[in-house]
Amino acid sequence: MAVTPLGSVTVITSCAEGTNIMTTTRRDLLTAGLTVAGMAATPSVAGAKDHDHAHQDVPSDPALRVKALESVMVAKGLVDRAALDAVVDTYEHKVGPHVGAQVVARAWTDPAFKRRLLADGTSAIAELGHGGQRIVVVENTSTRHNVVVCTLCSCYPWSLLGLPPLWYKSAAYRSRCVIDPRGVLHEFGLDLADDVEVRVWDSTAELRYLVLPERPAGAQDMTREQLATLVTRDAMVGVARIEGPHGGSHS
Ligand code: FE
Repeated sequence: MAVTPLGSVTVITSCAEGTNIMTTTRRDLLTAGLTVAGMAATPSVAGAKDHDHAHQDVPSDPALRVKALESVMVAKGLVDRAALDAVVDTYEHKVGPHVGAQVVARAWTDPAFKRRLLADGTSAIAELGHGGQRIVVVENTSTRHNVVVCTLCSCYPWSLLGLPPLWYKSAAYRSRCVIDPRGVLHEFGLDLADDVEVRVWDSTAELRYLVLPERPAGAQDMTREQLATLVTRDAMVGVARIEGPHGGSHS
């Protein structure tokens, strides 16, 4: 791991070798393909209203090609349809920001867990039943703000946050986040004081980062479950603060 100071901004990179672009691409294709399958089988509501028979929406050309590719792969026995269904079900229902929010809320309410989380995120997160990725957790404080990017492609802590948003995968975010993180954060509506250090963490296929946001003001009496509802995906990527129940963001 190399730490490169850039004024008050620090860019942290780990080994970029072996980043698996194809894994993400294939996953997107398969997810899109199954989504298309659902679209193709869904009658148009508008058409049904004006006619006594249902019409169907025609998917886009790329979507049809994805569906055709999936069909061929299934027919040749290269992939198992049940396995594809399981992948789609996982990303639609099982993983998502609510998982990361549980980790954050636990850290806010259990100091011993927080220590383990910051020392060895992978093991601490596995305690909660969420394994599958090597995770480093970085803590936001009043003097340090962390933000996560994948400069190479779209590596992301999907086991905790689900699939990455489009902006996370955009060339603009990936390039500008390391060049001008304060400017990028400003565009997300997050303005940091000049004396707050900004650290940018560059994810890879082997190592993903999760931001532990600051616990907001006004949340002292909330239960762990209530706290988890305050935690947002963007705050765990580091492009937002967490608003308290009364709108404040600092504890
Ligand atoms: Fe990546």
